[in-house]
Formats: sequence, structure tokens, C-alpha cells
Amino acid sequence: MASQTVALVVAAGRGRRFGAPTPKQYMPLGGATVIRHCLECFLGHRAVDAVGAVIHPGDRGLYDRAVRGLALLEPVPGGETRQESVRRGLEGLAPLNPARVLIHDAARPFVGPTVIDAALDALDRAAGAVAAIPIRDTVKRAVDGRITETLDRAGLWRAQTPQAFRFTDILAAHRAAAGAGLTDDAAVAERAGLEVALVTDDEANFKVTTAADLARAEARLRRADDDRDYEYRGGQGFDVHRFGPGDHVMLCGVAIPHDAGLVGHSDADAGLHAMTDAILGAIAAGDIGSHFPAGDARWRDADSAVFLRHAKALLEARGGGIVNLDLTLICERPKIDPHRPAMTARVASILDLEPARIGIKATTTERLGFIGRGEGLAAQAVATVRLPRRG
Ligand code: MG
Repeated sequence: MASQTVALVVAAGRGRRFGAPTPKQYMPLGGATVIRHCLECFLGHRAVDAVGAVIHPGDRGLYDRAVRGLALLEPVPGGETRQESVRRGLEGLAPLNPARVLIHDAARPFVGPTVIDAALDALDRAAGAVAAIPIRDTVKRAVDGRITETLDRAGLWRAQTPQAFRFTDILAAHRAAAGAGLTDDAAVAERAGLEVALVTDDEANFKVTTAADLARAEARLRRADDDRDYEYRGGQGFDVHRFGPGDHVMLCGVAIPHDAGLVGHSDADAGLHAMTDAILGAIAAGDIGSHFPAGDARWRDADSAVFLRHAKALLEARGGGIVNLDLTLICERPKIDPHRPAMTARVASILDLEPARIGIKATTTERLGFIGRGEGLAAQAVATVRLPRRG
């Protein structure tokens, strides 16, 4: 198969800003190395036909260990500068004569499929395309630590990689620019008078330059692992209680003064009951009545926080956790809104959950039906939980 689109990963630098003996692209990352993650991004992309690297001649052993088992082009030895290394890499691709080449820095292990697509698509209308991020900070020019100029950030972008080019154009441009000391391939293309487009990249495609960057990269992979190891489930709960004699109602663990109470075996907290059933539903663990039978004297006038905590404990016993809860209380009276902050705080406290993960809303039924006639109130809840995939 002819290689129409080749990715060339530039790994010839020997940056050791970590203070480590190993160049940063060969540093361990998520059980592999920085460069392997980067190469796999291109190997896994359907628009990329072949992937190769430019490496420092002294790093061949490191490289071979890092890429074991991957189907790659023979690596090309780099030169003294990045520009020279890329030129040599392009010369190495000349026998393949691909239509397009993506040039990418090995120290960016998280290049995404979207930006690769965008860069290649842009080649339909320009000779080159650069992944870039618009500058949102104010930019200063300084000499000896003193500001000499504040630049207008409008129209300023940070150039990243990948940078995509039509192969023959960029090879010719690199040949013409040899020794010019340019820091990216877009500059080489611009120097040759080629039109280069910008495509918007995202911050995930950051460059691993410092030990802090490497820690950030590890954290990002751990999060991705978490997402692979967990699945997300939803559950819903619904509950109704009738009004009866009393001077307050319990809703979401908060006593709200009212000219009636709620009738029930426990404290009749429909809000907590609906949330309890939603969590039980998400783990297919029956309903509140099967865990706390209404006839059981132990639960007479019980604080419904006990039921909610029990549902959470069942979820946690399966290795899971609550992602969020969303509750709607349905009644004409009492007015819920003034009590919403206290309700949220109480549920957050019962479940040891951030308040931002608990939604409490209220509505009426426009005076229709039993709720509209003030005979009772209802609550419905949706829970999202995460559970380990195993088991
Ligand atoms: Mg109930």
C-alpha cells in the first residue's frame, strides 16, 4: 500500500531538564514511555498510513526498548538542531514520497485524533497547517526583567505540533532553509512563501518539558484508566406521602414548619426516600421497602438518613460511589426554595458528598390532582453512580 500520509515524530533532542539521565521523550509514563504514547496516537489514527521517528544516534537502544512491538518505519538519525533533524527525517521519507506528512514532537504524548484530522483537512486549502492555541494571557516583552512593551494578544497563537504539510512542499522548503535556525516547520514553510493555516488544538496536547509536566501526564493517564475501569449507571426513585396532623414536614433531612405533617412509618421524608430508591435502583438492590419493611417497629419514626446511608453503604460495598443525585420535590406547599440551601447541606452531610453533586428542585402540579389539592406531596430522584466494571 502506498503511504499517502506519514507521521514523523521528532525525538532527536536530548533535553534533560528533569535532571534525569534519560532524555524526556524516553522517560517512563503510564507503564510505557512518553514517546511510545505519542507514536501510538498516530499508529491508532485511521488517516495515518505509516509512522516513523527521528532519533539521536546515541539513543538507539532507548528507542528500540521504548517501541518494542510497534510497526514503525526504520528510525532516521537526527542532526545538531531540530530543524536539521526534521530535514533528515523528511529526506528519509523521500523514497516513500507520501502525499502528506505530519511532523510532531515526541514530547507531546497526548496528540488527539481531532487535531490530526483538522490539520490534514486543512491541507485541502493550504500547503501547511499548524496545531495552535490562541493566547489568552497578556503578553509582555521584557529586557533585563523590565517590561519594554505590552503586545496586543489579538491574533496571537501558540504554535504546537502536529504540523501537517504537503510532502514535496515541505521537503523543498527544508532543503532551501538548511542552517536557518528555525524552531518549527511552519517557520520553514513560511520562509518558502507557503501558506500555512492554523487549526485549534487543545491544552491536553501539552509538551512534557519539566518534572511537573510529567506528573501532570501521569495524572491524566490515571484518570483515563479510571474511566476504563469504571462504568456509570443510573437509577430513579419516586415517593409519595400524605399530609396529616402536625406542625412540620421533614424533607431532605430538614424540618420545615408547616400547618400539616407527613404521614408515614418513618419520618416520612419523601425526598430522602426517593434518593434512597434511586441509589438502590442504580445497583439493582431492590427498594427501600425490601430493606426497611414498613411493619418493622425498628423503623417507626426513624430518621430517613439511616435509609440513605444504608443505600450508599451497599453501593460502596460493591466498590462504587455516587456521582450525583438530582431530586425534584412536587408540592403546592410548603415553599421549598427558602429551604433548599439547608436541604443541600444536610444531604451532603449525610452522604459525605460535595454539595455541587446534589441537585434539589421543586415544582407544583398547577393545583391539579392529589398534590394540587394539597393531599400530599411527591418526590422523584435520579442517581448516577459509578461501579467497577469487574463483577
Ligand atoms: Mg416513603
